[in-house]
Amino acid sequence: MRSVTINPAKICQPIGAMYALFGVHAAVPLVHGSQGCSAYPMRMFNRHFGEAVQVAVSSLGEDASVFGGKKNLVESIKNVIARRHPELIGVITTCLSETIGDDIDGIISEGNYEDSKVVPIHTPSYVGSHVTGYDNALKALVTTLSEESEPANAKLNILPGMVNPGDVMEIKQMLDPMNISYTILSDISETLNAPLILPKPPFPRGGSSVAELEDWAKARGVIALCEHAGGSAAVYLKGKYGMAADTICPIGVSNTDRFLDAVCDMTGAEIPYSLEQGRGRLIDAMVDVHMKTCGKRAAIFCLEIRNARRLLRMRTLHS
Ligand code: SF4
Repeated sequence: MRSVTINPAKICQPIGAMYALFGVHAAVPLVHGSQGCSAYPMRMFNRHFGEAVQVAVSSLGEDASVFGGKKNLVESIKNVIARRHPELIGVITTCLSETIGDDIDGIISEGNYEDSKVVPIHTPSYVGSHVTGYDNALKALVTTLSEESEPANAKLNILPGMVNPGDVMEIKQMLDPMNISYTILSDISETLNAPLILPKPPFPRGGSSVAELEDWAKARGVIALCEHAGGSAAVYLKGKYGMAADTICPIGVSNTDRFLDAVCDMTGAEIPYSLEQGRGRLIDAMVDVHMKTCGKRAAIFCLEIRNARRLLRMRTLHS
């Protein structure tokens, strides 16, 4: 018997943090590290999603490695604000900036950033993987931006985890007929699947807005779809604000039932007929073909070969 996990796709933390920031409207990931820490991931995102994602970098060199990267970080934040006027800059640390010990929280707190919010995100890549980086980024966004204030709202917070744009769209298609207010963090359904409409806006439409994130502490409940990618933010909201929290991934009939039950419990909404109808059709299809599928086993290989090669190349560069 042999494990089928060969060369698992375990890549570095900053990539996960970039992925999280692409789902926030008008946000720019700023990698505080050497140029390679942003160039290779950016190219991978561009090619995988076919979207012109942009990542800024503080370009640490030999001098910064010895004397510290404060000057580079301050200059790069100024440049990003002057050129792109973002609503949010996520400063993502790397192996280098964490090892030299730059106090990015202190450096960021000294600045004045006009209308942009600047959030420090710690992602040392010698710990964890891209999944840890995604989780750390969401927790940093929630802890830095969300503010408790009255009145509370009737919204639901959803943390979908490291899924594809189509998965986020599917979640929205389930929630929209229920007539509830919700915010998804991070919402890549449009930002990484943008329609080609000219002229192109400076930032893709869609994504969760900074104003929505500031309201996160006021929501009725939070549901994380993955414990490891978004779960920490849900635990933080539950511990700090006493918010109702659950972790359920709506894959399969019983888990989707549990997910919708949790949504109803937290918001007081009712399951609409359109969802009952879709569920009924699926059960009917399963009954209709059970004589062909019963007892059969299937293996699913999920990683595209093209991407597997690219991931392996990145791993080789750092080994
Ligand atoms: S693993 Fe490589 S690309 Fe990732 S943060 Fe560390 S040095 Fe940069």
